[in-house]
Amino acid sequence: MNPTPVIAIHGGAGTILRSSLSAEAEAQYHAALDGILLAGQRILADGGSALDAVTEAVRLLEDCPLFNAGHGSVFTAAGTHELDASVMDGATLEAGAVCCVTRVKNPVLAARRVLDHSEHVLFTGAGAEAFAAAQGLEFVDPAYFHTDARYRQWLAARGTQGTMLDHDAASLQAQAQEPEQDPGPIDPDKKFGTVGAVAFDAQGHVAAATSTGGITNKQPGRVGDAPLIGAGCYANDATCAVSTTGTGEMFMRMLAAYDVAARMEYRGASLEQAAAEVVMERLPRIDGRGGLIAVDTKGNVTLPFNTEGMYRGFARVGETPVTAIYR
Ligand code: ASP
Repeated sequence: MNPTPVIAIHGGAGTILRSSLSAEAEAQYHAALDGILLAGQRILADGGSALDAVTEAVRLLEDCPLFNAGHGSVFTAAGTHELDASVMDGATLEAGAVCCVTRVKNPVLAARRVLDHSEHVLFTGAGAEAFAAAQGLEFVDPAYFHTDARYRQWLAARGTQGTMLDHDAASLQAQAQEPEQDPGPIDPDKKFGTVGAVAFDAQGHVAAATSTGGITNKQPGRVGDAPLIGAGCYANDATCAVSTTGTGEMFMRMLAAYDVAARMEYRGASLEQAAAEVVMERLPRIDGRGGLIAVDTKGNVTLPFNTEGMYRGFARVGETPVTAIYR
């Protein structure tokens, strides 16, 4: 008998402290993760593909303002939003990605169209938007991506000239008595907020998708790991599917997502071992902070992170979804 299909999602890692999250906010995060897991689980239960399940889960995460992707994305140093997304099919090794888009409502859908309808893998900026428009995708005014919470985080980060992971920015702001008040120096390595999904389906295939607004106060034109196949997203039926969140530059330098798959393929490591080595040993060597979610073709799931918290969860078909925030 085939292993049970499963989906896992994340909503970013970082300095997510119990003290900086109210009980109400905590409940909101759990409810959002739970609802999105149920939607992904339904697709898998109906015999849908892992690729469809991760695309839909990430689309829902993009639409949810709690997470730094789509609506709710962080601000660049110029006060704008630049969004990145990717998706990969482990069955065919086909992949699609877009980066620096500013008006596509759901960057993950643009990435999926690239996978399905283009001979290329990655489109950037104006070219990505022209492709998305030709595909008939929905466009929004850039103001759609504005949320007051991210705007206040940006004001806090801007004063320091630094960049911040999304959830670090939120903790920083929570520490300040008044959101408008100068919160003092920022630890640039505190909080990340990308979203992602990985799934294993009834046909035995895996897929991964990742989407982000990047890091607060990033330089315009900066691209992180999320849209880079092998860094922030990877899927291969021979091994596993991976989606990452964290200090993107370090995940790029370590080819973090691919490294998990390579350790399984070349060294025979288990999914859990391979992911733990990358997150707990390799990334910290270059101060890489964050985590990842991964599934393999045996239906195993692992969700390691080296920060205080990571918004995360998984759901096997026929079972109640499990969600968690802290370590
Ligand atoms: N990895 C993302 C980036 O560097 C940030 C995040 O995970 O929040 O763009």
